Amino acid sequence: MILKNRSELNRLKILRSLNVRMNLTEEEKQYYLNQEKGYVGEKRFDELTKNLGNDLYILNDLMLKTNNTHFQIDTLIISQSSILPIEIKYFNGDHYYQSESFFKIPKKEIQNPLQQLRRSESLLRQFLRNLGYHGHIEPYLVFNNPEFTLYQAPLNEPIIYPTQVNRFIGNLENTPSKLNSWHMKLAEQIISKHITESPYTLLPSYDYDQQKKGITCASCHSFNVTANAKKLVCDKCGNQEEIDSAILRSAEELKLLFPNRKITTRTIQEWCVVISSKKIIRRVLLENYKGIGFGKGFYFE
Ligand SMILES: [Zn+2]
Repeated sequence: MILKNRSELNRLKILRSLNVRMNLTEEEKQYYLNQEKGYVGEKRFDELTKNLGNDLYILNDLMLKTNNTHFQIDTLIISQSSILPIEIKYFNGDHYYQSESFFKIPKKEIQNPLQQLRRSESLLRQFLRNLGYHGHIEPYLVFNNPEFTLYQAPLNEPIIYPTQVNRFIGNLENTPSKLNSWHMKLAEQIISKHITESPYTLLPSYDYDQQKKGITCASCHSFNVTANAKKLVCDKCGNQEEIDSAILRSAEELKLLFPNRKITTRTIQEWCVVISSKKIIRRVLLENYKGIGFGKGFYFE
């Protein structure tokens, strides 16, 4: 039973927009692609855990704090007799393990995910102790990209490799577990301590003028689109979208990128570029937002 879903993807959504609307540096682009990849891995893992039919509580994507130190857990599973913090890595390609370090072949050292796992395990232990939990904690590092290989893999570490993920889920499914109100209370306490991060931290700096304006295709993100009174048609991939949905999607994108910018018919027209009819934009905004103020000061929220 999933008690906490993976949180909003706002940071990833902003990065997606910036990636098509401005020139990111190589480093920023890499950061964006890593976020995108991490998200794919987490979603793939969620697809498996959501079907677990036995008595387990699943808490996805937690940001917690103990002794003023933040730590993050991709998936936390509460069973009758233990708590499983799971770190999910969607690395692809060939890697090797040497002297407690991880390398991507040929020779690029990457942050050791086992160390990351141990760190969050230790912080979680303290965190749970403060909630009165002194039971078993069973951490796992899951590599779930089928294109991942680790040479010289350590034998005695709690790692689940791509070829073991299904068996890992099978074992969870077959774990006898009977949860009671005490477990539920523990889960609720953990969720109540979850810290919602601002999506605006850890982003490249950007401003409005830098952004390429225009509606992008919902499917392939191309700016190469044509609008008529009913539809937005992509000239690149052929995708069609109702014009209302396209305008609303763009307005939401503008709001997310620039939360302090007032939404008006004019700002949305400037942002969308291809929609020449003010009337359509105004109608869509009126139907979906609340109008505030009068005359020249009128805007939507
Ligand atoms: Zn397209």
